[in-house]
Amino acid sequence: MRKIAIIDDVLPNALLLKGYTRRLEDVEAFTFTDPVEALSWCAEHIPDLVMLDYLMPEMDGTEFLQHFRKIEGLIDIPVVVITAAEQKEALYSALEAGANDFLRKPVDDLELIARANNMLQLRARQLELAEANERLLVLATTDSLTGLANRRHFLDKLREEIARCQRYGRPFSVAMVDADHFKSVNDTYGHEVGDRVLKRLSNLMSGEVRDVDCVGRLGGEEFAILLPETEVTGAKIFCERLLTAIRETEVDTDEDVLRFTVSMGLTEVCKGEEKTDVILNRADEALYEAKEGGRDRVVIHEQSSDKIENIA
Ligand code: GH3
Ligand code: MG
Ligand code: MG
Repeated sequence: MRKIAIIDDVLPNALLLKGYTRRLEDVEAFTFTDPVEALSWCAEHIPDLVMLDYLMPEMDGTEFLQHFRKIEGLIDIPVVVITAAEQKEALYSALEAGANDFLRKPVDDLELIARANNMLQLRARQLELAEANERLLVLATTDSLTGLANRRHFLDKLREEIARCQRYGRPFSVAMVDADHFKSVNDTYGHEVGDRVLKRLSNLMSGEVRDVDCVGRLGGEEFAILLPETEVTGAKIFCERLLTAIRETEVDTDEDVLRFTVSMGLTEVCKGEEKTDVILNRADEALYEAKEGGRDRVVIHEQSSDKIENIA
């Protein structure tokens, strides 16, 4: 049901307009004689259309619109302002303050229906557009196989975290994760099972992290985890826990049950660092060492591990 808010300080006027709106389909009208009360109702209920009498003792239409347009969710809601024929200045002012259309008093019922229908269509298009944008945003930021953040989105999150660290000075950690001997998983069981393993791995990582963390698929069988507000000592404990969870996971194939492992490279980021590629290269170097050292393990980048020793 679409909602129309009718605001007029004279109750019979408001009720007359409400009577007209009964001829609109799928619409419920709510009347208000107090503009302040109307504002708070609109903020809570987000109407699809507002019909606003211009001249009211407490607050005129322009003032109402100035408040209305500042409220979250109301910036685009269509407003039809109702003025007397001689109030030209009032009409200009209301249009400038964001009214979308107007009606002259005395209000002609058929004109009201026509204008209301136009405005409700505008509102319907707005909602469709907002939904389409929402879907596009999901497509543009997520990896389709795993549902994780894609590379670009992960890098955006990393940049945000660098900025936060710059401002508040609290370090964070980044872990690079790469599936071990993944080529042989594909070679032995086929690409479809390989994909299933990648999805399972993604679910495991998403399940282990906190809400504020971000897991991204950087490409192929390579992932990264952003751990805000987490020093490398804490991040290492997290990585060890994740390694155990992965090691203990079984994936059913048509023939048998397969297990898999990952290697991880971990680095801490401190205030003053600005470049995403420097940070990721550091995690990558540590990941390389984890592979060299026998896989299924986490290695902390030397620079970050120096810090642990200095503290100890
Ligand atoms: P390492 O332990 O040294 O990382 O060995 P690896 O075999 O995992 O590494 P390598 O880089 O040689 O091979 C990566 C493999 O990952 C090869 C590629 O076919 C596979 N791969 C990359 N993306 C996907 C994908 O989306 N689906 C599947 N099934 N396999 C993928
Ligand atoms: Mg690999
Ligand atoms: Mg790889």
